[in-house]
Amino acid sequence: MKKKKYSLVNIFHSLRMRIFLLAFLLGTVPCFILSYGLSYVYEQETLNSNILRVSGEAQILINEIVTSGYLTNPKDDTVNITLDSVAQSFSGRILVMDNTLRVVKDTYSLYEGKSIVWDIAVKASMGTTAFEEDTANNFLTVAVPISASAEKSGRTSGVSGNVTGAANSVSPVNPANDADSYGVILFVTPIDNSLMNKDEQGAFIIFFLFIDVILAFLISFFMSRHMVRPVTSLARSISDVEKGFVEPPLSENRSAETARVEAAFNSYAEEMNRQNASRQEFVSNVSHELKTPLTSMKVLADSLNGMEDAPVDLYKDFMEDITGEIDRETKIINDLLTLVKFDKNQGALEVSQVRINELVESVMKRIRPIAEKAEVELVLESFRPITAEVDETKFSLAVSNLVENAVKYNNPGGFVHVSLNADHRYFYLHVEDNGLGIPEESIPHIFERFYRADKSHSREIGGTGLGLSITQNVIRMHRGEIKVTSKLGEGTRFVVRIPLKYIEGEETR
Ligand code: ADP
Repeated sequence: MKKKKYSLVNIFHSLRMRIFLLAFLLGTVPCFILSYGLSYVYEQETLNSNILRVSGEAQILINEIVTSGYLTNPKDDTVNITLDSVAQSFSGRILVMDNTLRVVKDTYSLYEGKSIVWDIAVKASMGTTAFEEDTANNFLTVAVPISASAEKSGRTSGVSGNVTGAANSVSPVNPANDADSYGVILFVTPIDNSLMNKDEQGAFIIFFLFIDVILAFLISFFMSRHMVRPVTSLARSISDVEKGFVEPPLSENRSAETARVEAAFNSYAEEMNRQNASRQEFVSNVSHELKTPLTSMKVLADSLNGMEDAPVDLYKDFMEDITGEIDRETKIINDLLTLVKFDKNQGALEVSQVRINELVESVMKRIRPIAEKAEVELVLESFRPITAEVDETKFSLAVSNLVENAVKYNNPGGFVHVSLNADHRYFYLHVEDNGLGIPEESIPHIFERFYRADKSHSREIGGTGLGLSITQNVIRMHRGEIKVTSKLGEGTRFVVRIPLKYIEGEETR
């Protein structure tokens, strides 16, 4: 057997590779999705909690700013101290702007007195809390409007609920009229990652995924090997059988699936053995059958040669016997040739519309002298005229074999009754005799090549054991059926059923 070249395509045709890839993808893809999903949720939660924390602080300061009138009197030390200490407490920066967005207080003292047009500050001045996330530097800027409603509602009306969405999205909190708006308080604060920061988180995910990939690889590798092991081991056993190292049947039952393949292989091997045995038997039978008439002729010729002045009558007798043996040999060879021809042209029939009644009548006419000689009565009963699509020559041969046998395996004074009938699909031929009958144990074998039921009588009756095999072949070629019933000493009945219209396609067995 030629070894297959390993190309990329072949690798993907390998069952093991497919199982490996499937297991590997199942082990890694969900983990990738899960870790990125979790990391996203974690980031969002961190952002929300930071915004809530800052907004809460802002609300306290806003109350103080509004109640103290800080925006009109930014020199108020109490508020300034509070702003500085709050900014310090979360290591950030606080800017307070009036309603013209002029910076009234900057805890870094950089922008005081300056007007800054900052996107989120503008949004806050319109009464909406806004935020901006600087992911690169891990900073969060939250702008909260300072409004009159804040003063009225106090600190409990601060930011509540979750602030969701990406950076720069705006969450409507404390909607206020422009008339209410006193200004904006802006917090710039490092994002508080209470569990781990972004870098740590990234490193953790990569480490986790790395471990997952390694584990998935190892598990997939061993699992795929384990799963295809029964198949590879079965393939090895079959190859051992093929090389002749092991005799079938295989019986290791490696897995439910391979057990099925094993069973199929065993029955195939059994069939091959059976065919081999029958071929060997056929060859030995042929040789034996061909040798028998030759041996008889040799014995007859030798005995004539050994006799001096043998009478003419004896010569005539012996020569008649020799001619009989030659006829027998010729019949065997002809039958063999017919069988071989059938084997070669399986299904090659020359089908035409044939009048079956006339065909059977002409066969019986030919056999009638033989029947008369054997003192056997030959009767044909036709129930209706039948025309069917058959191969005339082959079908005549099949009928002739059946009728000849019925005469041959009969007793003087016996009868052979042939009848013909038909329905709308088939025609039926019955050949019935009250002759010798077939022993029960021989009935299943009579269609086998060279099988002869009554070995003791067969020699004197004459025959090759090929006639019924030929007949069965012909009937099968016509998609028909042949059945036999027989009782030893009472007689035999063959029933043949053939479709009126020739059916092309599979043979019926
Ligand atoms: P053969 O050349 O021996 O007749 P066949 O194949 O025609 O070979 O028949 C096989 C065997 O079946 C015969 O040897 C015979 O024993 C048996 N047989 C066939 N037809 C009949 C029958 N009508 N009556 C009894 N035995 C029969």
